[in-house]
Amino acid sequence: MSDDAKTRTPAIEGWFRMDEADPALLGTRCTRCKTYYFPKESSFCRNPRCSGSEFEEVPLSRRGKLWSFTNNCYAPPLPYVAPDPFEPYAIAAVELAEEQMVVLGQVVKGVGVEDLKAGMEMELVLGTLYEDDDKEYVVWNWRPVA
Ligand SMILES: [Zn+2]
Repeated sequence: MSDDAKTRTPAIEGWFRMDEADPALLGTRCTRCKTYYFPKESSFCRNPRCSGSEFEEVPLSRRGKLWSFTNNCYAPPLPYVAPDPFEPYAIAAVELAEEQMVVLGQVVKGVGVEDLKAGMEMELVLGTLYEDDDKEYVVWNWRPVA
């Protein structure tokens, strides 16, 4: 069995669409006031002016503007699972184009903080977080739009 035969599986179930060609974060939207939530909200709407309690699952914008970024030199807390040994990487906070909410994510390998600039257009891609003997665990990454 070659390495190519490894199964790709989401590192966190249900947070994003596992489609290499068209990945997307999965959030929810209040059916009453149309407020978006990520991670998903499904019990009650946190908008103080809304009493909605019904939500629909929606894919979120794949693109957004780089709002802030930092270099992460420490293993992050759950639900992130850090590879061992830990390698530093850049983390981006991206404001989604349509929903105007800020979503954190690891920046693709090979792109460091020196390559990033606030206001840049970023897009969501799938990246391998870590792997074991038979699986690759996948999470979303942010990548500058070329
Ligand atoms: Zn609402």
